[in-house]
Amino acid sequence: MKHLFVWGLLLLASVLSGCATNSMTGRSQLSLVSPESVMKQSTLHYGNLLGDLRKKDKVLVNTNLTRRIDQITNRLIAQAVLYRPETAQWNWRVSVIDDIKTINAFCMPGGLMAIYTGLAEGLQATDDEIAQVMGHEIGHALANHGAEKMSVQVASSVAVLAASAVVSSNSRQFQNNQALLTVSALAFVNLPNSRTAETEADRIGIELAARAGYKPQAAVSLWQKMMRANKEKGGSDFWRTHPSSERRIEFLRGLEPPMQALYTRASASMTPPFDWLHGDKARRPQMDGSRPLAFYSESWDAFSQGRSELGAGSALGFTFVQGKLFRLYSEKSWRDLAQETLDANFRMDLAYFYLGQSAAGLGFDEAARTYLARAAELAGTADASCAKHLMVSCSGIDVIQASRAR
Ligand SMILES: [Zn+2]
Repeated sequence: MKHLFVWGLLLLASVLSGCATNSMTGRSQLSLVSPESVMKQSTLHYGNLLGDLRKKDKVLVNTNLTRRIDQITNRLIAQAVLYRPETAQWNWRVSVIDDIKTINAFCMPGGLMAIYTGLAEGLQATDDEIAQVMGHEIGHALANHGAEKMSVQVASSVAVLAASAVVSSNSRQFQNNQALLTVSALAFVNLPNSRTAETEADRIGIELAARAGYKPQAAVSLWQKMMRANKEKGGSDFWRTHPSSERRIEFLRGLEPPMQALYTRASASMTPPFDWLHGDKARRPQMDGSRPLAFYSESWDAFSQGRSELGAGSALGFTFVQGKLFRLYSEKSWRDLAQETLDANFRMDLAYFYLGQSAAGLGFDEAARTYLARAAELAGTADASCAKHLMVSCSGIDVIQASRAR
């Protein structure tokens, strides 16, 4: 009982401090497990799963289908690393599991993927549709959903009980124990995703696929095939972890116009020069970590074109985030600075100055000029100038001077 109490306190402490903002989505996520630990569990779990299947001769090697899946995922990975450059170091893998009854696919943390023949062949999925499913799964990995689910699991009382039985009370790290393996097995493959996570993965998946040269319309046709198969055969494994609805299809249909634009820009021969799945890791292309691509959103689109307008917001709310905004500005974390400033939505010269700096840092030069001109203009007003405002300070920045300096 004493153990449980200690665990309870440790968990409470970590829940309170265990939130991290995901740079992919801007959403705050529960994060109780270190990224290293997540990767370790993922590698372990993937190795165990594939090892067992190989023994049963259930993993396809060098067939037409494996070559097809390799080619599709390779093109998706080449896009994924542009959004999260550090994932260029991931141990990207994809396996084709020979099981025609299972309609499923997954991507564990760290880019460890698999697709079942039940999905690829059973559904007679086209290349465009396979790209949608694998893009969606890669989306879960890019947005850290596996780690998030693992954290939720750890925080749940069942996990506390399981963990307390095998971990000594003075070990703060959830590392290398059976309970953690059970938790990660549930989190990476078997537990349903939240609706938020599903929407994020849909959004990321369709964009990766479009940029890799796969038709956005395939997202809708894929889910329609899945729904049909589900009605005929009863709940599939994929269905259990990916609850779908007409809403998902409507959402994806709504994304088709902007995605079609990306797809049209993608050239017909999209085969990346580098083989991310089998190539020598030491010879992978160097990624520019300072300017990662941002996923499409209406507000981001508006921002990058200089069309963002800040609203009335709240001065008090703005003073709460001012320290954070200044830190992001000092660190040159342009994408996060822009996102946080847009979220604060407070019409102030300093806020437009931050938008301008972010736009310039991200290479949106035209937008940068627009925002900085707006900052200089507002600096001369009585109500929207940080120098004259009663509550908001200028964080030590001379907005007029700094805006004109560019
Ligand atoms: Zn999903």
